[in-house]
Amino acid sequence: MNIPKTDLAVVGGGPAGLLSARKAAEEGNSVLLFDSKEKIGFHEHCAGLLSIQGLQDLDLTNLPSDVIQNDSIKGATIYSSSGKSFTVEKKQPTAYVVNRAKFDQYLYNLATDSSVDVQLSSRVVGLERNNNSLNLKLGKNSGYKQIVSSIAILAEGRFPKLNQQVGLPSPKRDRIVFTSMYIMKDLKNIDPNYVELYQDQQFAPGFFSWIIPIDGSTAKVGLASTEVPASYYLKRFIKEHPSAKLKLKDAKVIKKMNGAIPLSSYIKKTYTDNVLVVGDAAGQTKPTTGGGVIFGGIAAQFAGKIASDAIKQNRYDRRFLAQYPKLWKKELRFNLSIMKYVRNYLNILTDKEIDYLLQVLNKPRLKKKISEKGDVDNQKKIVYRLLSDFRLWPFFIKTGFKFLLS
Ligand SMILES: Cc1cc2nc3c(=O)[nH]c(=O)nc-3n(C[C@H](O)[C@H](O)[C@H](O)COP(=O)(O)OP(=O)(O)OC[C@H]3O[C@@H](n4cnc5c(N)ncnc54)[C@H](O)[C@@H]3O)c2cc1C
Repeated sequence: MNIPKTDLAVVGGGPAGLLSARKAAEEGNSVLLFDSKEKIGFHEHCAGLLSIQGLQDLDLTNLPSDVIQNDSIKGATIYSSSGKSFTVEKKQPTAYVVNRAKFDQYLYNLATDSSVDVQLSSRVVGLERNNNSLNLKLGKNSGYKQIVSSIAILAEGRFPKLNQQVGLPSPKRDRIVFTSMYIMKDLKNIDPNYVELYQDQQFAPGFFSWIIPIDGSTAKVGLASTEVPASYYLKRFIKEHPSAKLKLKDAKVIKKMNGAIPLSSYIKKTYTDNVLVVGDAAGQTKPTTGGGVIFGGIAAQFAGKIASDAIKQNRYDRRFLAQYPKLWKKELRFNLSIMKYVRNYLNILTDKEIDYLLQVLNKPRLKKKISEKGDVDNQKKIVYRLLSDFRLWPFFIKTGFKFLLS
């Protein structure tokens, strides 16, 4: 049997897969991308809040107008369950809200324009190393077809199956939070310039709830939680949260979505002979906010570049591919590690402690400094700022002990 061959096989047509495939194809390599779904951007399963700086880093500033749902997000307000709040803001818009289905379709168009061959309804079910190449086995829908590839980039998302087949770890299952999100209309008193985050243990244990405005009366309303079902907690948040319910009680649900986010931070090893792993499958997702498009996209561009170099030099061994983790870790590791500690720390705070923290953060000079340093992707800057403020030390010492003991 004559088995088709390619330079690079990419498994998964989310942002990480599409961006890495595009990068390698732009450098003149033959790239095949497989996605199990029948259409790219099939589910709009994500809130689509993307920093403008992050989009610039990915060279994606010219998004088509139908992808962008809101281009005026200037900041975020964090609420506690007792109604205390703290707003961090910039003078200019810092983030877009995008339609994730259309965003992925746009990335798909960019990839195919760069000659990536995208095969839909094609699930890769097996991966075997054979001499200096890989055998990929496709599932039933593709007639159990086989492909030989010199190298593969695995971008299967939050529940990867193939990492294990090549001896690589996956994001820890017990650190995955489950999500429920509605698109709602007829909300009251929301400001289209501000995202609202509700941090408390009662309504969203282990994470937070959000209202992400599309315009002055339509928003993506969701939450993630370590407790299941997330849909139960979302219904409760909408009906009972003391401040959110005032905005949401007469609102109507247009669409419902469920999903999951890996919060364990990056997996220990993201490469082996002939294989690189990117995106949610590599845990390149921010543990504080659950955002994974920008960080996963940055790592994906590195993966595409190193895969391309490997093809040019016919070097698929792990020593050569070790350049990939060096590059993405230099860019993202410090922030991802800090964010992991911040998420774990926030999860041990009681609702009263969150109230106190928000109260202190509202002190004018501190608030100004945080707004200046605030960056949704580069969160280590805010952490440094907070740790260097002596007014917060007694609080950090008290809660720090609890954190260490937990
Ligand atoms: C409710 C919710 C809200 C979110 N909000 C934000 C946000 O506001 N901002 C942000 O940056 N991030 C957000 N995220 C996270 C973001 O959606 C993910 O980080 C991002 O989609 C990860 O991209 P990816 O390419 O790694 O994986 P995915 O987007 O999950 O894509 C993986 C693809 O691989 C395909 N696939 C899987 N296995 C195989 C296989 N074996 N063979 C073929 N195809 C396969 C799947 O069909 C899928 O299309 C949110 C997530 C959720 C659940």
